[in-house]
Amino acid sequence: MKTQVAIIGAGPAGLLLAQLLTRSGIDSIVIENRSREYIENRIRAGVIEAGTVDILREAGVAEGALRDGIVHEGTALRFEGRTHRLDLVDLVGRGITIYPQHKLVGDLVAARLEAGHPILFETPVVELGDIASDEPTVTIERGGARETITCRFIVGADGFHGPSRQALPPEALTVWERDYPYKWLALMVETPPPSHELIYAAHARGFTLMSMRSPSVSRIYVQVPMEVDAEGWSDDQVWSELDLRLRDGEPVPLREGAITQRSTIHLRSFVAAPMRHGNLFLAGDAAHIVPPTGAKGLNLAAADVAVLGDALKRYFRHGDPSGVDDYSDKCLSRVWQVQRFSSWITHALHVSNDPFDQALNLASLRHIVESRHAALSFAENYTGLPLN
Ligand SMILES: Cc1cc2nc3c(=O)[nH]c(=O)nc-3n(C[C@H](O)[C@H](O)[C@H](O)COP(=O)(O)OP(=O)(O)OC[C@H]3O[C@@H](n4cnc5c(N)ncnc54)[C@H](O)[C@@H]3O)c2cc1C
Repeated sequence: MKTQVAIIGAGPAGLLLAQLLTRSGIDSIVIENRSREYIENRIRAGVIEAGTVDILREAGVAEGALRDGIVHEGTALRFEGRTHRLDLVDLVGRGITIYPQHKLVGDLVAARLEAGHPILFETPVVELGDIASDEPTVTIERGGARETITCRFIVGADGFHGPSRQALPPEALTVWERDYPYKWLALMVETPPPSHELIYAAHARGFTLMSMRSPSVSRIYVQVPMEVDAEGWSDDQVWSELDLRLRDGEPVPLREGAITQRSTIHLRSFVAAPMRHGNLFLAGDAAHIVPPTGAKGLNLAAADVAVLGDALKRYFRHGDPSGVDDYSDKCLSRVWQVQRFSSWITHALHVSNDPFDQALNLASLRHIVESRHAALSFAENYTGLPLN
């Protein structure tokens, strides 16, 4: 098989890039390890920045997000028993959209298949070859046999655990990494969200994020110690813990409901650079991970491929290599800004064992609700930095 761009991974990064390339008349093959059913039901992110909606619009796949997404003009920070609403639209002229990642993946898969462009599902990439040459290769495994795809560029959009990053020579790669000393218990709950907007609640017992998937389904994330696994707390324990964290001062009106899904999420910051080596590009989680507190993982993946889509368009249409040459530097400068925000908000909202840090965290949160300048900076980062 031969194509212009071989894309490894049918997550948001790979699928969105394929869609952008199709609209520019560039041929690509998307290769995905898992089944279609699996990726269209994989519960992950849910917050979409206004800039990401613009990228979806440009790619012609914004219909679902615009129709079914819930637009939030504000968000709330809760600490010391009080909930403080920040009016994002008033501060920076834009809000955020709640639209589940798996639905977006479904929209992208449908758009590609309807246009007659294939996705090789249940097809693991087992090897990347000749990445320094102008004809790099991707070896796949199908029906027990190995096949090779030859292309002009490979895009590794295969997430944190995929093979693309490992294909770079170790001496060519620099990695920055931080693991956080707590994790999240992520719950899907059959109960109306206590507010129509998100609540980020800091409390001496731990952080809680009240999010949502629909007017009748809440998505609740609870800071838990590292040793607690998905089934580690009974439903009763979850509800009594939420009660303790959300009841003091002005209580959050959360009604109990059936917990229909549980998982745990590790919090990690990670950057691998450069994001291009030879004719292999890394995009999305393959190159960087942020703790989910700032809701940036999916949005960063979309930003990477918007830059890459434009760079590849200039390369294939006009023979202009400047975009592909700048890709890594351009993305990384934005990636580090998003890392800074995600790391800071994670520290500020979670309980620390160090009393001095804990006092600093409260001071940071108070500063946001007491100073319009600080609120503006928060809103600017939270709703998404510009692409350029
Ligand atoms: C459990 C979990 C929960 C999350 N929750 C949130 C959240 O609440 N909020 C938030 O903002 N972000 C969240 N994120 C982050 C966000 O979902 C990611 O940043 C986003 O999915 C990145 O998209 P991607 O396309 O780069 O990678 P992915 O979505 O990981 O896609 C990579 C794809 O590559 C495929 N692949 C891997 N190896 C191979 C191979 N060898 N051959 C072929 N295909 C391969 C994988 O199957 C996968 O489909 C979460 C992430 C995880 C893992």
